[in-house]
Amino acid sequence: MTPTLPPPNGALRVPARNVLRDVEKAFGQNTFGLAEMKSRLPKSVYKRLTATVERGEPFDETVADAVALAMKEWAVERGATHYTHWFQPLTGRTAEKHDSFITPNAGGGAVIEFSGKSLVQGEPDASSFPGGGLRATFEARGYTAYDPTSPAFLVEHNGSATLCIPTAFASWTGEALDHKIPLLRSLEALNRQATRALALLGEDVGRVTATCGSEQEYFLVDGALFEDRPDLLVAGRTLVGAAPPRGQEFDDHYFGSIPERVMAYMNAVEAELYALGVPVATRHNEVAPGQYEFAPVFEDANVAADHQQVMMMTLQRVAKRYGLACLLHEKPFAGVNGSGKHVNWSMSTDTGLNLLDPGDTPHSNLLFLFFCTAVVQAVHLHQDLLRASIATAANDHRLGANEAPPAILSVFLGDQLSDVYEQITAEGKATASKASGFLGLGSPVLPTLPRHAGDRNRTSPFAFTGNKFEFRAVGSSQSVSFPLTVLNTIAAEAIDDLTTKLEAKLGRKRSKKAVEEAVQEVITESIREHTAIVFNGDGYSDAWHREAVEERGLLNLATTPEALATLTADKNVAAFERYDVLTRAELESRQDILREQYALTLNVEAATTESMAKTLVLPAALRYLMEIGEAAEAVEDLGLDTWGARETAGGVVEHVNALRTALGALAAARAAAHEADDEAAAMTSEVVPAMATVRAACDALEKEVPADLWPLPTYRDLLFTG
Ligand code: ADP
Ligand code: MG
Repeated sequence: MTPTLPPPNGALRVPARNVLRDVEKAFGQNTFGLAEMKSRLPKSVYKRLTATVERGEPFDETVADAVALAMKEWAVERGATHYTHWFQPLTGRTAEKHDSFITPNAGGGAVIEFSGKSLVQGEPDASSFPGGGLRATFEARGYTAYDPTSPAFLVEHNGSATLCIPTAFASWTGEALDHKIPLLRSLEALNRQATRALALLGEDVGRVTATCGSEQEYFLVDGALFEDRPDLLVAGRTLVGAAPPRGQEFDDHYFGSIPERVMAYMNAVEAELYALGVPVATRHNEVAPGQYEFAPVFEDANVAADHQQVMMMTLQRVAKRYGLACLLHEKPFAGVNGSGKHVNWSMSTDTGLNLLDPGDTPHSNLLFLFFCTAVVQAVHLHQDLLRASIATAANDHRLGANEAPPAILSVFLGDQLSDVYEQITAEGKATASKASGFLGLGSPVLPTLPRHAGDRNRTSPFAFTGNKFEFRAVGSSQSVSFPLTVLNTIAAEAIDDLTTKLEAKLGRKRSKKAVEEAVQEVITESIREHTAIVFNGDGYSDAWHREAVEERGLLNLATTPEALATLTADKNVAAFERYDVLTRAELESRQDILREQYALTLNVEAATTESMAKTLVLPAALRYLMEIGEAAEAVEDLGLDTWGARETAGGVVEHVNALRTALGALAAARAAAHEADDEAAAMTSEVVPAMATVRAACDALEKEVPADLWPLPTYRDLLFTG
């Protein structure tokens, strides 16, 4: 495949037109958002719809026909031929079944039709999606349900378009089979508990929602090279591959200048995302060669989760156009940084108040301290759930690999906030906040910079970053929905707990002073109990791993099976059930699905490793041995001295033997894992190390075999795609 390069720029000059004006006009043009609805719907219908979209009120189904009609007209005017209920099954990807707008009529012709019923409910066959034992395969019925709070959008392909309607996906028995239902339920739980707390704290708000902005890291490799790597094609990551002579040790890629082809690609991605109303804001090179990042402006968590899926789809789709492949895998290359998705999360009111904004003097901001304390408590009590929410075979390579946060959950608060909490722990209240101050740079021409109250900490899995928490351990290919669902649920539980304690302390009293005193007490008690989760030091260090586990009693769930086992712990089931987010049965089904996906992933990787080693690496090594033999003969024929042919061949044979032994061990490990009671655990303990041994032998051969005989694009080829 020849890479399609972007059209040449012609003369090197900037375009003489206002590019941003076009972007401004095009923003959201492929979405059926509020503005479009307002202009197309009768006033009364629009009003009822916004009651749902903006205030979370129940969707009034009597307006469905009117909404469907307007949506259809809008979409058809823009080239739509089909519509689809777009949903997020537990595969972590999105699903779509397209239905035509065209319906045959009695006269042998056809009409364009789309009813309220088709908008509101779909009926995909549920049996081909993971159900995790919730139902038998023959019980196939499943339903999709319209989510009016996330705007419908158009995906264009070659001159026509498909209307994608965000939907929830449930079984015939009403159990959630997707990521959206629990997310929406968790948002409702958070809303209920946070508005209850705020009422007590004297803040009159209508609604509280979670906000989310997720930074997406990804790799780009040349599309033709990608297709020559069976492992990238099938498993999304390289299963063999020796370290290149130059990796990321120069630290020169991060924020480096963006190569021209990549820049053209990023522009195209942005244009599509803008049209889809996805507010991408930042683009830059990441730490590893070939690694990049996009970050959007934060939004309501449900819309942000849908947009995050749209972003991943767009990144991969547009890459092909530029002869590139976009790798979303958490660890496509050994020895260089992996990719994460930092999920920035906060809680926000409909009055525009960010509940995690400390202001300049956090010590006196009791409202902030109340909610921030609740989050710290929640993370301490449910470290295991947060860890489980990011547990995948791919993310296991990243967590704790000295480049990404460890598998141990802890909370980074930064200097200023930690100081406030230390005062509270010691004195029962805080009386001062460290000033953030200014930074002079020693030259009169440079401005004096206001300095943040705390430094950053790249090693923390869960960091307070000014006015939000950043869950940095989430994997790059993951849906953000489940991590968000967990965060919302455990925050709701902690807010509920603190509010109940507050109510108990206050009795009938409601004076400002009484409330303030009670809040101080409640916060102090909570912080004293949960301070073990707060850690501002180096999360990569061995000392921390020891301290965390041995002195603080924190969990170090290093592998996916260990983490997933905690999903159904009684306290976790209780939290999910108390707030009607997931039932025990739904949680158990998720656990089954995730465990199965883990085992399937490793199985595919193991099979691919085996076949690459046997059909690509070994033959290349044998060809090299033949060449050595021929060369030795030729040298001998010429009557010249030997040149070390025996030693050279001997080195290769040694690696070949090692590889053959390793392959035998891998086959045995796979067979044993299939027989094991706990296949996932056996995969971790037997198959993962066996794959690593095969890889080591392959990589040793890669360093010996001549480049023209090596059958795979190397790390050097892949990582330095321009
Ligand atoms: P940082 O410099 O800490 O990475 P940025 O302002 O660049 O902060 O934000 C990183 C991400 O966090 C962006 O996606 C941004 O929209 C998001 N973000 C900012 N404020 C909030 C908030 N209140 N809630 C959720 N996400 C937020
Ligand atoms: Mg960040």
